[in-house]
Amino acid sequence: MIPPIANNFVAGETAAEALDHVEELNARGVKGILNLLGEHYEDRADADADAEAYIDLAEGLARRDLDGCISVKPSQIGLEVGDDAFEENLARIVEAADCFVWVDMEDHDTVDVTLDAFERHARETDGNVGVCVQANLRRTGETLERLADCPGKVRLVKGAYDPPAEIAYTEKSKVDEMYREYLTYMFEEFDDGIAVGSHDPAMTDLARELHEEHGTPFEIQMLTGVRESAQFELAEEYEVYQYIPYGSKWFSYFYRRIRERKQNALFALRAVVGS
Ligand code: FAD
Repeated sequence: MIPPIANNFVAGETAAEALDHVEELNARGVKGILNLLGEHYEDRADADADAEAYIDLAEGLARRDLDGCISVKPSQIGLEVGDDAFEENLARIVEAADCFVWVDMEDHDTVDVTLDAFERHARETDGNVGVCVQANLRRTGETLERLADCPGKVRLVKGAYDPPAEIAYTEKSKVDEMYREYLTYMFEEFDDGIAVGSHDPAMTDLARELHEEHGTPFEIQMLTGVRESAQFELAEEYEVYQYIPYGSKWFSYFYRRIRERKQNALFALRAVVGS
């Protein structure tokens, strides 16, 4: 069982609990992006099992008529087993899932294979696939130029990994500056398919201004348990998705949220004490 302190950041251990969470969000105007926790599998059987779980999850969304989609990690569906395993499992998921499929971005050395797979599926499905790009990587300007004419959606995030300084911006203020620059580029050059993956009010405000200026549609994405009241407020005016992790491997995910931001621990503790 997930202890109450971690419960804010994950939607339970089972697919049924995760789908219930989407239903609750939908009732308040927010859509769901489901992520089964798991990464860095070295065994093909583990990768295949999670690929199958995503297909079942997509089927659950459709069966329950929920407004949501799925987001997979390349290393969860086979990238560390081999490029073939990743590509086969992604193809299986995209083919079988009756919903939009996001591909998360992991370490910097997985960017090329992830972008190649995304681009192929985005073109084949006429845009039913999305990919995440990280503002802290120096190459992201070129990546966005490459993706500007590709169908599908692109989620811009600041970057959760620690790439080496030769290829990445390491100062937080510089990453914020690049996020602004990339977001501006996306609103100028993308026809649609912009996802703002950030809890930073400065970035969501900028997206709103850019939307006013250019009229380009966009969506805001935030994580379960983070600025949820802002999510519900924004959903009154904009398309908002909550990225919803769930599953038995919740501990390392919870630990990462706490490491990323100490206030998360206080926030989680307050929620427990107050409940
Ligand atoms: P930060 O720069 O961490 O914080 C800026 C401001 O946001 C803070 O000053 C505060 O005002 C507000 N804020 C932030 N956190 C909180 C909080 N807990 N409570 C209240 N206010 C807060 N990274 C990847 O590398 N690959 C991915 O595929 C990926 N997918 C993601 C998907 C989604 C939907 C989201 C939201 C993030 C994803 N990330 C991913 C993580 C991302 O790269 C960042 O590490 C993470 O979002 C933190 O950056 P931030 O822009 O949210 O805000």
